[in-house]
Amino acid sequence: MSTHPITVHPARSFKANSHDAVNDPHLRKSFRGAMDFLMAKRAAQFPDHNELEALRSLGETVRQRCLAKLPQLLETLEAQLTANGVKVHWAETPEEANAIIHGLIAARNGKLAVKGKSMVSEETELNHYLEAHGVQAVESDMGEYIVQLAGEKPSHIIMPAIHKTKAQIATLFHDNIPAAPYTEDVDELIQLGRNALRGMYLKADVGISGVNFAVAETGTLCLVENEGNGRMCTTVPDMHIAITGIEKVVEKLSDVIPLYSILPRSATGQAITTYFNMISRPRQPGEKDGPREVHLVLLDNGRSQAYADEQLRKTLQCIRCGACMNHCPVYSRIGGHAYGT
Ligand code: SF4
Repeated sequence: MSTHPITVHPARSFKANSHDAVNDPHLRKSFRGAMDFLMAKRAAQFPDHNELEALRSLGETVRQRCLAKLPQLLETLEAQLTANGVKVHWAETPEEANAIIHGLIAARNGKLAVKGKSMVSEETELNHYLEAHGVQAVESDMGEYIVQLAGEKPSHIIMPAIHKTKAQIATLFHDNIPAAPYTEDVDELIQLGRNALRGMYLKADVGISGVNFAVAETGTLCLVENEGNGRMCTTVPDMHIAITGIEKVVEKLSDVIPLYSILPRSATGQAITTYFNMISRPRQPGEKDGPREVHLVLLDNGRSQAYADEQLRKTLQCIRCGACMNHCPVYSRIGGHAYGT
């Protein structure tokens, strides 16, 4: 495991950013409404407080057990994925992760990558890196697509464009999608974005995704999503590259069950997500679809340091549900952009 310090990309100061945000009535209204909605949906999914506490405790036990064995589980994961035909890459820093991914794309002379939602790729600023090296990276999660068109960063780990109003998205699509009419009808907006993205899956040289849980015993990459874009990114292009942090490994397939039971209920107030993808190997002889190459990039970027610190290690238990953001009194008023990272 690495001793390399964490790399973050600094922004303007929080004070300056938060001052701007506090004085933006549209932003405050969007956030207040969205966070109230999400908190209510989450509460409706957990009507029994004792059940919530029992589930949370079970999830914590699973995460703590897996973290206690992290070095060993990472070795098992690599061995199992390799046996399944998935190539595993290790990156200490964001720059290393970006260079590995670019190298894989360049090796097939690729020019277009289509991406599912990955907060780790935001951490490494992968899109900027690829674009600087001649590869276009197109976000396919609708929220990520919106913030990419706007030239912004996600403001929430689950709902990247939650800070945007319908009118802002209508203008964005009208200005950026060829022949798109101006409409504030949400269904029509989704359809416009969907149509613009469809062709990308067919044209893309590479699909890039994140990973919610990496299962060591079976070498399985689990991907939780609602839009089907994750499934398109990981099955249509000839090469799939997954990127995730080293802490996402779990020991057994059965460990996923309690974590998946908590994740969508806490994140979006859904009992389950529309799609739950399990990826274990590239396309096999005789199979008609799926990528011919699958790669996993495991990023450290300071996680080993957190792991070595008894108190900080707990931060690695996070399953990225985003519920703490929805409940944070500061975040729920001014959103995530003020924090800068
Ligand atoms: S995103 Fe927040 S609430 Fe969800 S697991 Fe991580 S720390 Fe906990």
